[in-house]
Amino acid sequence: MENILSKIGLGPKKDLVPVVRDNDALYVYVKCDRCKEVIPVRISRKEEIQENYDKDKEKTYQYYVRKEVSGSGKNRCFARVGIYLEFDSQYRATRAEINGGSFVSKSEYTASRDEK
Ligand SMILES: [Zn+2]
Repeated sequence: MENILSKIGLGPKKDLVPVVRDNDALYVYVKCDRCKEVIPVRISRKEEIQENYDKDKEKTYQYYVRKEVSGSGKNRCFARVGIYLEFDSQYRATRAEINGGSFVSKSEYTASRDEK
């Protein structure tokens, strides 16, 4: 039964991009197009995540955030990476847009810190 449900899209939903959640914040990891630095992005639940107040019952997302980040500067690169994410009520990413970079997993971030 589970297999059938997931085939028609009613199975457990997954994040569109890798998101790490804790009580205070969500974390995504982005890779700068220009210098390839992997940048950790902390998104505060209280201060940065916006609620979608659209009353439409068919609304496709509950929360959203728009944010611009730049790297640590260690690569002498100050390019900005712009992200826009939409989340459902469980803070699962249902839509993700990015400018100037790409979303990567936490393990790619960890690996990028280990290589020197
Ligand atoms: Zn960069």
